[in-house]
Amino acid sequence: MVKQIVNPYEVKGSIDYDKLVDEFGVSKINNKLLNEIEKNVGELHFLLRRGYFFSHRDLDKLLKRYSKGEKFVLYTGRGPSGSTTIGHLLSWVFTKWLADKFDVKTYFQITDDEKFLFNPNLNLTETNKLAYEAALDFIALGFKEENLDVIVNTNAADILYPVAIRIAKKLTLSSVKASMGFNDSSNIGINFYTAMQSVPVFLESIRQKKNVPVLIPYGIDQDNHFRLTRDVAEKLGFLKPFTINCKFMPGLKSNDGKMNASDPNSAIYTTDDEKTVINKIKKAQTGGRETITEQKKLGGRPKECNVYSYYDLFFEPDDNKLKTIYSNCVGGSLLCGECKLMLANKVNVFLKKHQIERHKAKSKLKNYFLKKDFDTIRID
Ligand code: SF4
Repeated sequence: MVKQIVNPYEVKGSIDYDKLVDEFGVSKINNKLLNEIEKNVGELHFLLRRGYFFSHRDLDKLLKRYSKGEKFVLYTGRGPSGSTTIGHLLSWVFTKWLADKFDVKTYFQITDDEKFLFNPNLNLTETNKLAYEAALDFIALGFKEENLDVIVNTNAADILYPVAIRIAKKLTLSSVKASMGFNDSSNIGINFYTAMQSVPVFLESIRQKKNVPVLIPYGIDQDNHFRLTRDVAEKLGFLKPFTINCKFMPGLKSNDGKMNASDPNSAIYTTDDEKTVINKIKKAQTGGRETITEQKKLGGRPKECNVYSYYDLFFEPDDNKLKTIYSNCVGGSLLCGECKLMLANKVNVFLKKHQIERHKAKSKLKNYFLKKDFDTIRID
């Protein structure tokens, strides 16, 4: 079995989420917290019900503030090392749900600088282009212009840099190296970068000239960044960010690690056409048996099946319909070929609509970019 590695720059192995909760010092989302969320917004997203968003930092405290009338903002992002996948969309769709249900604003940071600095095979033109592609995918989910600020790091440097250097002054090289697994051969840019990823946590507070709480939904692999941000927040006079963390969506080919945007066979991209989706899903790893006879007799193994994971995490939000897929699979009445085609149809219906919205987003992209309509020189 491949050893578990989880950090912002590498996710490998069969992931033990309980172990990560202990290692990272996050808290599990329990029923009490789920009830609190439901009490505030009237329902639970299926990704909460199904435990995909599984851990948090101080979310209970944020809900208390919210229930007393204090608004927060959301902050999430994307490191553009390849085209956007369904795996990325998953937590963005959840972010949109949070934005709608709590009626709050969202900051979306796209870190073209980070991917340029970290990846020797990508130049800045490429990461910048990928950043704009990612922005289209995020906007396509239906955020209103007035409720979303999109930040492409290299294009918003004049706004980010004055805040980033204040953060950087409070971060030591040894703490960044230890958290991120960098060493003396790592370039100095990537060591500075974590300060850039922290900036959006503070922007709304700077804008409003008062402390505004921030909730960050992110994949648990990003936790090291935000542990550092939480460490410096109070030193700079801000609230520590609140977080909610999700598990990884597996690739189509393997249950280990997470969907890899750089591996076209493992990932479904938001720009894939119908045929490509069908072909990729046909080749997906399943929990099916060697032969049809065996499958009918013994049933499939949905818990070991990537196709089932796609229903569970994205394409079948209805719990009863999901249960039917599960029981038909284990009962042997559903065969993998049919099950894959059903999934491919669902993915294609979703992508058709998404691609239309994505195309529409091109003409209004600029309206969403963060504007320098506030003074960033306030903190010291
Ligand atoms: Fe997976 Fe569907 Fe096959 Fe069951 S029938 S193992 S859920 S692909």
